[in-house]
This record gives sequence, structure tokens and C-alpha cells, in this order.
Amino acid sequence: MERSSERTRLRFAIVGAGMSGILSAIRLHEAGYDDFAIYEKADRLGGTWRENTYPGISCDVPSHLYSYSFEPNPEWTHRFAPGAEIQAYFEDVAARHGVTERIRFGAEIARCEFSGGRWQLATKDGRRDEVDVVIAATGVLHHPKYPDIEGLDRFEGALFHSARWDHAVQIEGRRVGIVGTGSSAVQIVSAIVDRVARLALFQRTAQWIMPQDNPCYSEAERAEFRRRPELLTELHADMAELFSAFSNGLVDMNSPQMKAIEDACLANLERSVLDPVLHEKLRPTYKAACKRLVMSPDFYQAIQKPNAEVVTEGIERVEAGGVRTRDGRLHELDVLVLATGFRVDRFLRPIEVIGRDRLRLEDVWKQRPSAYLSISIPGFPNLFMLNGPNGPVGNFSLIEVAELQLGYVLQLVELLRQGRCHAISPSEAATARLEAERTEAARHTIWGSGCRSWYLDDRGVPMSWPWPFERFRAEMAKPTLEAYELQ
Ligand code: NAP
Repeated sequence: MERSSERTRLRFAIVGAGMSGILSAIRLHEAGYDDFAIYEKADRLGGTWRENTYPGISCDVPSHLYSYSFEPNPEWTHRFAPGAEIQAYFEDVAARHGVTERIRFGAEIARCEFSGGRWQLATKDGRRDEVDVVIAATGVLHHPKYPDIEGLDRFEGALFHSARWDHAVQIEGRRVGIVGTGSSAVQIVSAIVDRVARLALFQRTAQWIMPQDNPCYSEAERAEFRRRPELLTELHADMAELFSAFSNGLVDMNSPQMKAIEDACLANLERSVLDPVLHEKLRPTYKAACKRLVMSPDFYQAIQKPNAEVVTEGIERVEAGGVRTRDGRLHELDVLVLATGFRVDRFLRPIEVIGRDRLRLEDVWKQRPSAYLSISIPGFPNLFMLNGPNGPVGNFSLIEVAELQLGYVLQLVELLRQGRCHAISPSEAATARLEAERTEAARHTIWGSGCRSWYLDDRGVPMSWPWPFERFRAEMAKPTLEAYELQ
């Protein structure tokens, strides 16, 4: 078959040089595919770890778990390493695997069109490419969400989103306001409270705070890890098992694991915040882990410092001199940080993606994004997403998720390489069936237990993997080809 021999040399485009883009390049190379380009819109790799540099940033997945399975790192300095260390890890892995030199930096893909059996790509600055397979490694928590608060443009102090921290702005001795109480805000509060003159935390909803120490690894421990790499493998496996138990609890809102988490969070609040008024302000009225669970060893201590205040009165507007709350009070500020999260429904967008028969992704995802097993979309052949819509984004280490997904994608790509087909995409029927089942199951997860969070779609249905992690692993182990259209 003429087509099959032609296809044995497949060309790939990897979109994004963050955690999953770097992973894709390494795995493609190992699988013998060497004709690929990595497109990265920024001038540096690292994705979320490049973009989030706010004070106090770290990952809430232990670093020995938040590492590639094939690149354990004896050098992690803490159980939850700081963001800069994680960024350095990705830069180091990418350099050692020869990935960095293959990245086209400053190349933002603006358009992908499936035409003539291949994907035609165009970057914003007019560069073009033609490939057989697109791997979209475009990230999830990526596009900052700016709040719809009146007067933000009138503020005369410094104002920025937590994911766009302006390090040129002095915070020492200044009056700083933070909008939001998610993981980002909580880390920032602990990190800066002792540096600023006054800190106002504008809280719309209280958070459950899981007390979580962050011990460092001593030089002796790290030397031992270097000497005996098998210890790192064991550590990775132990942590994965712990996380598995946690993630299996998340998918049942009444599970004993969720009850234990709530008890631990409540005990943390009770023993840490003795002032009854503040206690009531900080006590959530929904189940723990309904929103993404916030981990912190010292948030309650930080927020009780004499220069800190939790403001629960709603924000009326932002004015030149600060934030005016609904009770008429003006909170005078020099710096205002918007720790208001991300637009989590973007995925590949704003790339203009046009599939078979001129099908537009923007139209297909008009209501909300969806994909078969979070990876592929009917009508968009040979396009595979890592950490796409409705995947296990809150359940586990996203690195393990991406590794499993890529293993699955490579099995599909193998069909192209063998010439068994030249285009592969999931069927409408299989996608609709799985999505109906997922939606029903998602309502019973902890995220569906009655709170507002970024896990929920426009219908209030959690946009996540609603089953135990073992099912995800099993699905990823081998594609069910009946769910696909092979052409
Ligand atoms: P987030 O969890 O989405 O929190 C956004 C916060 O902003 C919420 O408290 C929200 O209040 C508030 N907010 C949004 N719009 C508002 C408005 N108009 N007025 C007042 N308040 C408003 O965002 P995030 O903290 O950046 O975290 C996002 C995710 O990134 C996390 O869930 C986590 O998955 C990841 N992350 C992880 C770490 C870590 O590893 N430790 C650190 C940072 C981020 P409501 O609750 O009332 O909606």
C-alpha cells in the first residue's frame, strides 16, 4: 500500500514545551520517531513552572512523586520542592535528553488544519509546517482568570495576577492586598506576611487547610539517594500508593478518606485559630476537598500576625487608592495581587483548530470542552491531547497522568506507523457514551458535593476523572479499538 510506506516516516508537532511536551519529545525519540518539532510560544520551557514565580510557590504533590518515572531526582531539597527547583529540574532533563535544542521558542501556533490527510500548522509569525500527528501538550492551569471587579484599571498602585508576578515591584514595607484564597493565595500569604507592612486577604469563600509539613532532605539523605537510586524508586512507589488511596477517596463524596481529611482540617482550624470571630470567618461551610484541597503548614499562623487581616466583606470596587468593600470601608493599598485562578476550559484554545470536513474545534467545544478519554476528539484525526478535558487533573500527579496518556497515544500512533490506517479518531458514539457515563459518575465525587470551584463546568458537573485511578491505568494500558474510526 503506497500510503503505508509513506506513513512509516511520521512527522509530529508537539505544541508546548512544559512538563508534557518535554515528556513527549523524550518518549517519541525513544520510540524511534525522530521527525518532530516542538513549538513553544514563550522564550523558555517549563510551562506553569516558568509562568508562576510568586513568592512561596511550591507543588502540592511531593517532589519524588512529581518527577518523571525515568528521571528520579536525588537532589530535591524538600518534600514539596519550591517552584524554581522544579523549573530547574525540567530544564535539566530537557537539556540532557537533547530536547531543548529542538524547541522552536517564540513560536506560537495560531492555526492547525487537517487538510489533505495531514495537519497544516501556522505560527502567529507566519511560519508553516505540515505533520502527520499533533500532540497538544498545552497545559491546564495556564490562562490567568481576571476577576470581573469594577475599577481594576483605576488602581494607582501595582496590580498583577499571581501567575504574572511582577518582581520589579517592591513589597517590603508596603500595604499589599490579595484577592482569592486558593492554593496560590495561601502560599503567597505565608511567604510575604513578614515582609510587608500590612496584608489584606480578600476572602470570598473560606478554604479547608490541610496541615502539611514540608521537611527538607538533609545533605546526608541526598547523598544516600545518589548512592542508592533504588531508594528513589521505592519512595516514588510508596508516595504513589498513598496518593492512589487519596484519589480513590475523592471519587466518592462519602468515603472514609474524605471524612478523615475533613477531620484533620477541622482539627487544624480548631487548634490554630482560637479567636472565635476569626475562627468563624475561616470555617468553610462545604465538604473538605470539594474545592482543591489547600495544603499549608503555617497559613493560620501567618494570617493571625498583627499586620494581617482577613476581609470577608464583599468587594464593591477597586479605586485609585485601594479596595472599597461593601461596608463602605476603603482598604488602602500599594500593591494588589489577583490570585484568582485560571480559565481551565481553554486547553488548545485560542489555537484555531480545524478538523475533517472543516469542522471547527471552537464550534465543537462551544458549550464546553470534551474528549474521548481526555485525549482525542471525533472529527479531529491524529490529534492527541495530554492532560486534556475531564482527565484526572485533581486526583494524582499530572506527570504520571501524562506518562500513561502518552503510552496510550503511542499505541495508536503505532497503527499509523504500521500502515494499518492513516487517520485515527474516536467515534462520536463512543465519545458520547463515555461522556454520559462520566457525567453521571462525576456528580457523586467530592467535587460535586456542593461548592463553587474551578472543577465545575457550566452545568455544575465536575470536569474530572470520576473513577478510581486503577480504572484510568487500565484504560490507558491498551486502547479499545472499537471506539475509534480507522481510515
Ligand atoms: P483557585 O484555586 O481557582 O482560586 C481562586 C481564588 O480566587 C478563589 O478563592 C476564588 O474565590 C477567588 N476569586 C475568583 N474570582 C473572584 C472575584 N471576582 N472576587 C473575589 N474572589 C475571587 O486559583 P489558584 O489558587 O491559583 O489555584 C489554582 C489551582 O492551581 C489549584 O487549585 C491547584 O490545582 C493549582 N495550584 C497548586 C499549587 C500547589 O501545588 N500548591 C499552588 C498554586 C496553584 P471562590 O473560592 O469564592 O471562588
